[in-house]
Amino acid sequence: MDWQEYVDEILISPEALQSRITDLGTRISHDYAGKDLLLICVLKGGVMFLTDLMRKITIPHGIDFMAISSYGTGVRQSDGIVRILMDLSTDIRNRNVLIVEDIIDTGHTLDYILRLLKARDPASLRVCCLLDKPSRRQVPIAVDYLGFSIPDKYVFGYGLDLDEFYRELPLIATLRPDRYNQFIGQDKT
Ligand code: 5GP
Repeated sequence: MDWQEYVDEILISPEALQSRITDLGTRISHDYAGKDLLLICVLKGGVMFLTDLMRKITIPHGIDFMAISSYGTGVRQSDGIVRILMDLSTDIRNRNVLIVEDIIDTGHTLDYILRLLKARDPASLRVCCLLDKPSRRQVPIAVDYLGFSIPDKYVFGYGLDLDEFYRELPLIATLRPDRYNQFIGQDKT
């Protein structure tokens, strides 16, 4: 099925995404100048954001990945149960860690990751998140670098999936309400 069949609206255009990511990269480069910066990407949704952000960060930095499962199934809303699927390959002790995440919804996923990583004694620990749905928050999270605040709608594209597809789109789209039920009950990580 063509991705456009599932779109309600294009919420964020490719141009708006790139412009905002350029701003974030500039700020991060300034704030971490002279520091040992390590970006930690939360898979899979953060991968497009990470690779574009890296190209806008003008200071040397390392990267690592972790995979977390926070949804049980389909596009159902997060139930607060978070599992680690793949851990970091890097020792983060004494490093300046910046978590790169696609979206904060309830906040359970980032809350879990922050507590997990804090226990490993990084020099600093901050969050860079592309999208935030503040109206859905159940756990308070301080976001240090935010791309866009968005309404409570299911979004896909630019790393975020719709039933594991369409992550490759260069834009953020909202799911048509009449298509929502089609995806409930299907496995998703
Ligand atoms: P939280 O734990 O904050 O409720 O959920 C965070 C995770 O849920 C995100 O990393 C993402 O994988 C998923 N998520 C939340 N909202 C959306 C959405 O609108 N679209 C997609 N594709 N994933 C979402």
